[in-house]
Amino acid sequence: MSKRPTLAIIAHDGRKADLVAWATFNRGRLGEFDLVATATTGALLRDKVGLAVRSVLSGPLGGDAQIAAMVVERRIRAVFFFVDPLSAHPHDPDIRTVLRVCNVHNVPIATNVAAADLMLSSPLLQTVPEPVRSGASSAAVAGGE
Ligand code: PGA
Repeated sequence: MSKRPTLAIIAHDGRKADLVAWATFNRGRLGEFDLVATATTGALLRDKVGLAVRSVLSGPLGGDAQIAAMVVERRIRAVFFFVDPLSAHPHDPDIRTVLRVCNVHNVPIATNVAAADLMLSSPLLQTVPEPVRSGASSAAVAGGE
């Protein structure tokens, strides 16, 4: 089983061109990680960029919710979520869930290319998160109080 950290990648339709350009520029660095992406984003990363990517469902069909669940389970080192802030999205509740669980569990999330550049260049991405302990209290998860 791979010990490499897993990065999750999601791009809204209005940001998919940016995603392909960003991933092409950063293909070498992204190749150091296991990647999981929503369906259409994953297909672009495979077909246009040549990266090996595991896909979940398309975002509007529940893929964002699947990524959120993986964040909760501590299976994701960081989330790259290329958000289109100028369009309405039918799956807005799921988008909010991704943002929320990243904040609940202190998982880094970049929502634009500038932040994605900073995050991807961090050596801290190489560390693997601690697996979640089932039954952990919210205080323990948040670091204790
Ligand atoms: P997609 O989903 O990669 O399947 O297009 C992304 C989203 O809109 O959340």
